Amino acid sequence: MKIQAINGFKDILPDTAVRWRHIEQRARDIFERFGMREIRLPIMEKTELFVRSIGEATDVVEKEMYTFVDKGQTMRPEATASIMRAFIEHGLHVQQPVQRLYTIGPMFRHERPQKGRLRQFHQLDAEIIGAVEARVDAELIAMGQMLLDELGLAVSLEINSLGCPVCRPPFKAGLVAFLEQRHEGLCEDCKRRTHTNPLRVLDCKKPTCRALVENAPSLLDALCPDCNRHFREVQEALQSLDIAFKINPFMVRGLDYYTRTTFEFLTSDLGAQAAVGAGGRYDGLIEQLGGPALSGIGFAMGLERIALLMEQQSDKPQPGDSMDIFLAALGDKTLAPCGQLAHLLRKQGLRAAIDYSGRGLKAQLKQAGRVNARFTLIVGDDEWDRQQGILRNMATQEQQPFDLGGTPEQQSLRLLGLVQPTTN
Ligand SMILES: [Zn+2]
Ligand SMILES: [Zn+2]
Repeated sequence: MKIQAINGFKDILPDTAVRWRHIEQRARDIFERFGMREIRLPIMEKTELFVRSIGEATDVVEKEMYTFVDKGQTMRPEATASIMRAFIEHGLHVQQPVQRLYTIGPMFRHERPQKGRLRQFHQLDAEIIGAVEARVDAELIAMGQMLLDELGLAVSLEINSLGCPVCRPPFKAGLVAFLEQRHEGLCEDCKRRTHTNPLRVLDCKKPTCRALVENAPSLLDALCPDCNRHFREVQEALQSLDIAFKINPFMVRGLDYYTRTTFEFLTSDLGAQAAVGAGGRYDGLIEQLGGPALSGIGFAMGLERIALLMEQQSDKPQPGDSMDIFLAALGDKTLAPCGQLAHLLRKQGLRAAIDYSGRGLKAQLKQAGRVNARFTLIVGDDEWDRQQGILRNMATQEQQPFDLGGTPEQQSLRLLGLVQPTTN
């Protein structure tokens, strides 16, 4: 019996891994242009951290966490809470009042596996802690947009404001009253949510619930003057950065800790409309976790979804593995010197492949094609005796003689001059 991977847990095979690395490299590059610094976190935390930050009555905490009940430990379902925990534990705000942090890695949720949604999934997560200004919200959103733009992805941006502890409670009370009057028409989840987490009813995906909440009171009409001004400033700042957006008053996000600005980058190219990335402001979270009264804003983007979308939307060739040179050693005499040459080329930074099987030219050229070699150096026993190999450009199929005279070092340097390493 063969052993297979667990449902919802997936191998990232080399062809996909190379694309993921491309996305991650772009993300690091762009995040660092915005002054973000990397933080690496454990994947296991005390369960209490997620209960206190994400909220007890959320889907994530209620039914999706991988928890070792006897140990009180949970595999992280998202990264923000862990970043906050680390931020507080190490007193990062003492060194620098505004911290810009990002992390990349796996998260775990026990959801029904479907296309682009796994139980172990991977996120790019960015957080700016300690800044209250609306311009910071816009800057963070602009950073996410820049990444998606540079990856060549077309997405739409939606924003909303969830208010604050001043204006949200009275709005919630009004919403509950509205929902209670329509109780019978709601789905089972929403009937329950009416009292545990009424805002979630607003973004229920079931058509019957959608129709019912169409005329529900809007939080945007209930914002206090401060929240109103903040939301207006976010919009003005986005406009000044040429970022297109739509306001969606029904977007509430699944986590309790959000305040004021929330946003989603959406696509309809992955089946039903799906968020490629999403985030928001969480002004009370750090204090709620026992830290200083600092505000924060962040987002998470799904690596799986970005990679899927790139496959689907991009007309550009996908980034792939390639070798700079393939050494086709065709005779007994040539195996040892070609092996030595490959080693020296690798020392000089070239990606060099070699086949030691002694197979014929045709088979070796086929292999060179399989590994995506840009050049192939062909050296048979005859060529070795004449000290002249053949260098073939695999794209243009042009061939030129290559001088095999001198020491292996001299040969490798001459080759380096002709081939040039690729920067990936
Ligand atoms: Zn408010
Ligand atoms: Zn519903």
